Parts: sequence; structure tokens; C-alpha cells
Amino acid sequence: MTEKSLTDNFDLNYKEIKENIKKAAEKIGKRPEDITILAATKTVDAELINYAIQNGIEYIGENKVQEFLSKKDSLLPCHRHFIGHLQTNKVKDIVPFVELIHSVDSIRLAKEISKVSKKLCKVTDILLEVNIGNEETKSGFTAQELMENVNEISKLEGICIRGLMAIPPICENEQENIKYFEEMNKLFIDISSKKIDNSNIDILSMGMSSDYYAAVLSGATMVRIGTSLFGKRDYGKK
Ligand SMILES: *Cc1c(COP(=O)(O)O)cnc(C)c1O
Repeated sequence: MTEKSLTDNFDLNYKEIKENIKKAAEKIGKRPEDITILAATKTVDAELINYAIQNGIEYIGENKVQEFLSKKDSLLPCHRHFIGHLQTNKVKDIVPFVELIHSVDSIRLAKEISKVSKKLCKVTDILLEVNIGNEETKSGFTAQELMENVNEISKLEGICIRGLMAIPPICENEQENIKYFEEMNKLFIDISSKKIDNSNIDILSMGMSSDYYAAVLSGATMVRIGTSLFGKRDYGKK
């Protein structure tokens, strides 16, 4: 594909996504601007990401530490988030350059982010990742672990809990999918109403290309979209 068609596709895709989000938001009495579209930019070239930023994308999320570090200096100003699995020994490479880490899946990781942030005299916003389907292959807190540990995590200096993130199981049908999103929304509401130190819980990050509409209907405040914005990922190219 030529550069031209990549950007044309982006324009069409982005327009369609915005329309869908507007529809979903209005259905539940929210405004479209209450929902943040985060572009999941793994494998996407800096050039195309910059085109997206120039054309309305304000938030981007990267998955891999190395890939993020190699692209970050080429990117235009934007809100930079980390959304992939993060190993504790890579925390120091990422924390100086990102605003929010979506994928905090253990107390150990939260402690490391706290330690590194304190050293930099910075407060890093984090989301706690919930393994809402209790899948063995996925990381994250179970709902119960979340409730048991959120207070302890919130007491760590240098971090601010901003909400929850989930990647629900791949579902056969939409009904099942919605069930997980609804469970996440319940947890989000529970946790927002708890009195938790140093937190400002207002982000529910869930919904990707195939299910962002349902996620918004179930209360997502941030959707992470890759394929539907940029096209199918070309892993061969990297
Ligand atoms: C890749 C990725 C997305 C986006 O997935 P698409 O299906 O391409 O929209 C969202 N969240 C995370 C954590 C991802 O790794």
C-alpha cells in the first residue's frame, strides 16, 4: 500500500470510529467527548502515527518497551501511554516518558513504578489491570485481589491510581462479551466510590477494534483501538 492510501484509510476509519462512539455515548446519555480514543500504535510507523496526531488523535498507547523507545523521539507531542505487559526491570526505561501505564498487573510492578517515579520526583498515573475472565494465560488482578489490594497500592508514593483496564476473553457472542464489560463497570463504580488515598479514579480503559461500541455502552471512558484505525498489523515488516 502506498503512503497515500494508508492516510486515506486512516481518515475514513477515524471518522467512522468517532461516529460509532458518538452513537454509543449518546445512547447512554454521555457526550462523545467523555470517551477518549487511544490509538494503539504497535507496529505502526512514526510517520503514520504523526499523521494521526495531526488529524485529531491526542492519545497513543504503545505495547513494547523497545519499540516505544525507538519511536518516541520521532513523535509529535501527544499523550503517551503504555498499554503492554511491563516487566519490572524495564520500568525505569518507560516511566520518564509516559503519562499513564494501563497495564499494572501486580503489587510488585506498582512498587517498582512508585520507586522509579519517586526518584524522578514525578507522579505516574496508573490503571490496575483486571483479569476479568480469570484466564490463566492473562495477567492482571482478579476482582477479589483488586479489592483486597487497592488500598495498599494507593498508599505507595509516586503513583496515582486513575482507574481500571481490562482485556476480556475472546467471546463467541456479543452477549458474553457484554457480561465482562458490565462486570468491569461494576468494579469501576465500586472502586470509585471507595475512599482511597492518592487516587483520582475516573478512567475505565476497555474496548478494542472489535468491541469498542459495546464497551462504551457498558461504561468505558477510554477505548484502545489499533486495527480499526490503522489497518491490519504487518508484523513481517518490523
Ligand atoms: C493491540 C492492543 C489493542 C488494540 O487492538 P486492536 O484489536 O488492534 O484494536 C488494545 N489494547 C492492547 C493492550 C493492545 O495490545
